[in-house]
This record gives sequence, structure tokens and C-alpha cells, in this order.
Amino acid sequence: MDRLRLYEFPAIREDGFEDCGGCNNETPYKYVLAKNKAEAEYLIREGLAGLCANCMCKLLTDEKFLIFRSTFPEEIGEDELELMIGDGVDYEHFESLEDAEEFVNALSKGISDKEIALYTQVDESGKTVYRKGKHLVNRTGVYMVAWK
Ligand SMILES: [Zn+2]
Repeated sequence: MDRLRLYEFPAIREDGFEDCGGCNNETPYKYVLAKNKAEAEYLIREGLAGLCANCMCKLLTDEKFLIFRSTFPEEIGEDELELMIGDGVDYEHFESLEDAEEFVNALSKGISDKEIALYTQVDESGKTVYRKGKHLVNRTGVYMVAWK
């Protein structure tokens, strides 16, 4: 079973629309199913994928896709992190982004059916929170990798 994520791309044509790859109607957004963002961008760039909302919903329905909401929110507070551990989430802290990314790569090879997220620890007016992805603003220099 492939784990795919749905990506949204706004039209880049000057009139704000593009042609859907399915029904050929004009659409302000194209949707792509892909394993990761890089693959989604490649598929869009090469014109290999990109459906309007109607066609994407029809595809999801016709192909009987199972939809799971991501375990990992955009932002996690210290207290929420403790709660997530009780929910089967594991995590590790890193002092450098390189080490964190290396860990993500190693982890995704070993447990490809798991969900993995990289967080940047940021200082939000005296409160420590973890923001999903890589961030430069208010960062403390600590990164966290969480997986389930
Ligand atoms: Zn369409």
C-alpha cells in the first residue's frame, strides 16, 4: 500500500487558471497525489499530473482511497508532546539540523510505513513550541524528529 499525500498547486498562468489534466476545464488549483513534495512538484512541472478538485475527488472515490489525517500538527507545545507520547508517538531531539535530517532519512528507510515529522524548536515569547518543518525565525537551535 502506498502512502500518498495530496498537494495543492495554484495556477501559474497569468489569468489565474490552468487546464485540468482530467476534464480539461479551467481550474484555479491543481491537485496531485504524490509520495512527497519533490515528487509532486516534478509531476506538475512535467505536466504528468494535476487535476481540478472535481476530478481529484472522483479519483479518490473511484479508486477507493483511504484517507488518514496526519498525526502531526503544524505546531506542538511541550504539554501536547507529552500527550502524544501516550498516543504511541516517539521523538528525539537534535542539536543540529544536519543530524536531524540524517535521522529522518535513516528512519524513513527503516520504517517506510510510519509517519515521520521534523520540527524546529522555537521560542514563542518565552514559551517553547515545536513548529513543523525547518524555520529560521525564533529558533533555539534544537530540532525534533517525531514518528509514529
Ligand atoms: Zn477536472
